[in-house]
Amino acid sequence: MKKHYKFSIWYFIIGIWIVLIVQNYLAGSFAVKTLPYSEFLQYLEQGKVAEVAITANEIQGRLKAESENGKEQYFKTVKVDPEISELLSAHHVKYSGTIESTFLRDIISWLLPVFIFLGVWFFLMKKMMPQQPGFMSLGKSKAKIYKQEATGITFDDVAGVDEAKVELEEIIEFLKNPDKFTDFGGQMPKGLLLVGPPGTGKTMLAKAVAGESNVPFFSISGSEFVEMFVGLGAARVRDMFEEAKKNAPCIIFIDELDALGKARGIGGYGGHDEREQTLNQLLVELDGFDSNIGVILMAATNRPEVLDPALLRPGRFDRQVLVDRPDKEGRKKILEVHLRKVKRIGDLDIDRLAAMTAGMVGADLANLVNEATLLAVRSRKERVEMAQFEEAVERVVAGLEKKNRLINKKERNIVAYHELGHAIVSMSLPDTDPVQKITIVPRGIAALGYTMQLPTEDRYLMSKTELLNKIATLLGGRAAEQTVFNEISTGAHNDLAKAADIARSMVIEYGMSEQMGQVYLKGESKGQFLMPGLSQRGEYSEATARKIDEEVKKIIDEQYQVALNILAGQRDTIEKAVQVLLEKEKISGEELKQIMQGTELPGREEEPAA
Ligand code: ADP
Ligand code: ZN
Repeated sequence: MKKHYKFSIWYFIIGIWIVLIVQNYLAGSFAVKTLPYSEFLQYLEQGKVAEVAITANEIQGRLKAESENGKEQYFKTVKVDPEISELLSAHHVKYSGTIESTFLRDIISWLLPVFIFLGVWFFLMKKMMPQQPGFMSLGKSKAKIYKQEATGITFDDVAGVDEAKVELEEIIEFLKNPDKFTDFGGQMPKGLLLVGPPGTGKTMLAKAVAGESNVPFFSISGSEFVEMFVGLGAARVRDMFEEAKKNAPCIIFIDELDALGKARGIGGYGGHDEREQTLNQLLVELDGFDSNIGVILMAATNRPEVLDPALLRPGRFDRQVLVDRPDKEGRKKILEVHLRKVKRIGDLDIDRLAAMTAGMVGADLANLVNEATLLAVRSRKERVEMAQFEEAVERVVAGLEKKNRLINKKERNIVAYHELGHAIVSMSLPDTDPVQKITIVPRGIAALGYTMQLPTEDRYLMSKTELLNKIATLLGGRAAEQTVFNEISTGAHNDLAKAADIARSMVIEYGMSEQMGQVYLKGESKGQFLMPGLSQRGEYSEATARKIDEEVKKIIDEQYQVALNILAGQRDTIEKAVQVLLEKEKISGEELKQIMQGTELPGREEEPAA
């Protein structure tokens, strides 16, 4: 909205200006001069009056031109003498009730500019928003809600996102057969949020759900809502839900939900009225409809952290599906999907292609296949061969590196060691959560890789040993970097913050420090407006604060040493595991355990299909 709004103000000013100019011009030619009655009588005596029109208390008239092609002057004057008609007859002046021409010209001099103004306004508005025809029918325009009776996209077209597909199966089942579900008294989720980086296939997945279940697909983009006139967005939301309910079962898809659903209050004081209205309307609609009528709302975002918490509450977008960057296996499948559309393919080593495209998402891979095909056509090849793909990869990578989305080889190396550090330290210590898998596929926005640990059971109590082991595990990434490269990268700072948090809690909350003894020093949080991340300081002296810091540092230092010691004894394992991780981009906890125990991995090359 912001941008367009500014523009329209400029057009408005230009419009007004044009009106003034036209007005001025017309006024110049049709100006009516007010004469004193005495002067009128003088003109009358001199025979200069051409014609007059007499109304109840005014005389309007026209003076003869001064010269042959001079201008005629219009005038008006008050009617003093009631017997004016005789006087006029005496001087042979034509007179009547009104003068047609003056009246017409008056009208024209006002209407013409108004028409011109409206015309200019209309023309510019049309130019301004060509994608929104019919903007005049405020609120009723549905131009931006795209409806597809059949998307024609199936799950087969979306590859490498198997985990997300599993989550979506249930929705398809429901949409195909809503009655079966409701007969059982089941309640479908209303809102489903697809979370993942751009180009990973979120829109495609939503369309595929519609395609698989054979229902209409309504889509709209959150950013388009925000560019509308005030009040229009909310009306649009209402329209969309109304339309969807009529078409149930169906899917509503909101792309870029974050543009619309940013937490209220983020982005400046006063907020963005239009966005808030629209968001509120969306919340109202979400609360107001029963998912069992067969309308499923899906939305996509790559920034779930900025969403208004109100959107994520139960009964709204309470289910989130992660659509992450594909790993090597996933990229292979995506490439295969897109290669299906290419008619002339030579001998391609898809496995190598997948290895070459680390960090790319589905959209990049689609782009890559297209680029390679174009290159083949351009160089008049019979088929698309590996050479074209290699050249295309270089081009795409060059483009992506500019966008900073690919991590380079050296970084990949560091990340691999770092993540293995976490995993190996954790697996070497007793009473830690088992390691599920380790990957170096960049996840989300900040993390370059991650080590996934799942707690075996829900935990409410943790022993001091467990907490210390957790700290050691967190520091394992740093320790590995230190051990292997003898220096530490910035990638580890989040780990350190988490480790310090735990250590601090141990000292001031759990009374687990020998130096400090059994104390509780954590301050009550003052009000609910405390920003997360700000440490809540209790009431204690500077000296105590220093002592706490010392204790925290001592715990961290000790556990760092623990991590270093473990890794020093596992250099072989690290090197072996890093090779696997760099090659496959992920390694499971089970596989790592086998490497640690010195067993060679069986069937390393072919992983059973998931
Ligand atoms: P998102 O909505 O996550 O930004 P899209 O669904 O719009 O991504 O994907 C853009 C294009 O990239 C799709 O049209 C498709 O050609 C390709 N693409 C993305 N992800 C996949 C995938 N998992 N499998 C196949 N093609 C994909
Ligand atoms: Zn880490």
